[in-house]
Parts: sequence; C-alpha cells; structure tokens
Amino acid sequence: MQAEIVVLPGDGIGPEVTAAALSVLKTVARRYGHQFTFSEHDIGGIAIDKHGDPLPASTLAACKSADAVLLGAVGGPKWSDPNSKVRPEQGLLALRKGMGLYANLRPVRPHPAALNASPIKPHLLTGVDIMVVRELTGGIYFGEKTRTADSASDLCTYSTAEIERVVRSAFKLARQRRSYVVSVDKANVLETSRLWRDVTARIGRDEFPDVKLEHVLVDAMAMHLLAHPREYDVIVTENMFGDILTDEASMLAGSLGLLPSASLGDGKAGVYEPIHGSAPDIAGKGIANPYATILSAAMLLRHSLGLFDEADCIERSVDGALNSHAFTADLANNGRSISTAAAAQAVIEQMQANCYVAELRD
Ligand code: NAD
Repeated sequence: MQAEIVVLPGDGIGPEVTAAALSVLKTVARRYGHQFTFSEHDIGGIAIDKHGDPLPASTLAACKSADAVLLGAVGGPKWSDPNSKVRPEQGLLALRKGMGLYANLRPVRPHPAALNASPIKPHLLTGVDIMVVRELTGGIYFGEKTRTADSASDLCTYSTAEIERVVRSAFKLARQRRSYVVSVDKANVLETSRLWRDVTARIGRDEFPDVKLEHVLVDAMAMHLLAHPREYDVIVTENMFGDILTDEASMLAGSLGLLPSASLGDGKAGVYEPIHGSAPDIAGKGIANPYATILSAAMLLRHSLGLFDEADCIERSVDGALNSHAFTADLANNGRSISTAAAAQAVIEQMQANCYVAELRD
C-alpha cells in the first residue's frame, strides 16, 4: 500500500525517538512491500524559533492531507516562561483541535521483563492489559474561563454528540478486545457526568448490547486502578478525568518510555505519539527510550492504515527486544544499558527473525 506519513519530531528527545521509529517503519515498508512517503515538519519550540508559531499553517495543512502523523514531543526550558504569549504546548492543542481528534487512546500493558521498573508490586501487574480512551477536545479544559483578583472559574460543558462519538469509539475497541467497558464519571456531583452516564448507558444498551458496561466514580477508579488493574479492559472517560487517570495508569508500566498513544477523530487519520514529554534532561545524549514511539508507530499502522499484521509484528518485536534485555537507561535499574539507536536496532533484528513475510523484500 501507499501512504503519506507526516513526521513532527518537535523538541528535546523528540527527533531522537522519531528517528528510531522511522527506522522501524522503513523496515516494515521493505519487508511487507509498502510505499511509505515521509515528510518532516516543525511543531512546538523549534517552530516558534523558526516561524514564530508553535503550529505553522504549513504544518497543519500537511497533517490534514496526510494519512497519519507521527509526533515526538514538544517543549523545553527555552520556551517555558509562563508569561510568554506563544508556548510549544499550544501547537499540540491546536493540532488536535485542527484535525478534529476527539478520542485519545492509551494502551497500558506492563511488559513482564520490565515489571521491576514499576513502583507497583509485580504480582498485581502480571496480565494487565488496559485501553484508556480519553475525550480530548471538550470539557473543562476548553470551557469559558474567568479570573478576578479573588476568584476564578472554569466552565465544564459536554454535549450529547461529544459524548456519543467518544463512547462509541470505546465500545468498538472493546469489541476487538475483551468486550468490557468501564465508564468513569462523577455522576454523584456533576451535571456533565450525569449526562455522560445517561448517554453512555443508552449507547451501550441500544448499539452494543454484547459489550458489558459498568459505571464507576472517578475517585473510586483512582483506587481500583492500583489495587486490581488486571480486571479492566477498556476505560472511557471525559477529558480531565482521563488526563489524571492516564498518568496514574502509566505508573503500571514502569517507565514513561514504554507508553504509546493515538489521537483519533471521525476519519482514519490520526496523530500518534509517545505519552512522555521532550525530556530535556537527557536530550541530545542518544539514551532516550524509543519503545513508546515505536509502539506509537505500530498503532499508526493499525488504526490509520489498517495494517494489522505489520502492527502486531512491531509489538511482538518490542516484546522480543525487552525479553532479550535490550534496556535503555530508564529500564536498566543501574545495570547495563543501550543507546536509543541500539534499542531500535534490537527491534529491527527481532522483526527480521520473527515476523512472517510472504515475499521477503529485505
Ligand atoms: P518528560 O516526560 O519530558 O520527562 C519526565 C522524566 O521522564 C524525565 O526524567 C525524563 O528524562 C524521563 N523520560 C521521559 N521520556 C523518556 C524516554 N523516552 N526515555 C527515557 N526517559 C524518559 O516530562 P517533563 O520533564 O515534565 O517535561 C519536559 C518538557 O516536555 C516540558 O517542556 C513539558 O511541557 C513537555 N511535555 C510535552 C509533552 C508532549 O509533547 N506531549 C508531554 C509532557 C510534557
């Protein structure tokens, strides 16, 4: 197949981890006979420096016409003055809004070889496989804000249509997994949560009767997620609760460097990125963990290009690399560690050894 993939390396370790993921995507293209065209554009701090804008119009236009977007990370101390008018993160928000990406998918699947990197007891983590679906473009982050000398307010609104579309995405994903959705809200207190619960119950009953649905309050969910994470399959929730719960869930996997994400809308195009930031403390050293970005590339193949075998191949190969202790410094527990490029190479070697290809093109 032919596909146009826009690459937005961004700042800090962004260029290092996207380069690693690109080498893996190029291996997929060679081995499975696909033609991927890659074009690089600026976002975040580097875009502020070069264009005075964290999301130049040319970058947004390229992303909108591409089949998928692979992003590194944005931000860093150079651009972190809270009083400055333009900030790197604005580029990310504008990109999600501009592309209509309302569902943020974050799979959490602690790897057996990396269980010791998590602060949670290993026996609680074995077999955990959760997909958190966070609403991304509504709720309190986007509502009207007010501020006077001694008071402030943030308005939280959700429409039925905004809830329906993200909840449908969650139910569809559950059908491809273990057919179990937990919807998280605060319906005992918030009116937006009562609407969320009503809409989710109706969609479940009318459109997905084969999927088990439960409603859980967000405060209880924060506890359950650490106490018995293995029980959960798909968790769907609104923007702010999702922001907090996904960071909590990331601790189950041990390192930020292992967690990918996808942001999707109505079409097939999406933005795929690791959940970590630009890690300025290790940028430029060649030691960043590239697995989260490589796993984001696997999600890109699955969700935007429909290349399921190829996505499985990458995920199995990352598993294989971790099994063979191809650990970057964040995973190595002060033991022997390898560079970003060597970790990518470990994945590529696994692909060459283990992924079935009908007609080998390497
Ligand atoms: P961070 O995720 O960049 O780093 C937190 C810690 O995790 C650091 O010690 C870092 O070295 C480590 N880390 C992160 N990713 C790693 C990787 N792949 N391999 C090895 N270690 C890794 O978060 P932060 O320090 O709070 O933020 C740094 C900058 O990134 C800030 O400017 C922030 O605004 C930005 N940020 C961007 C995004 C994004 O682009 N989506 C997300 C979060 C933070």
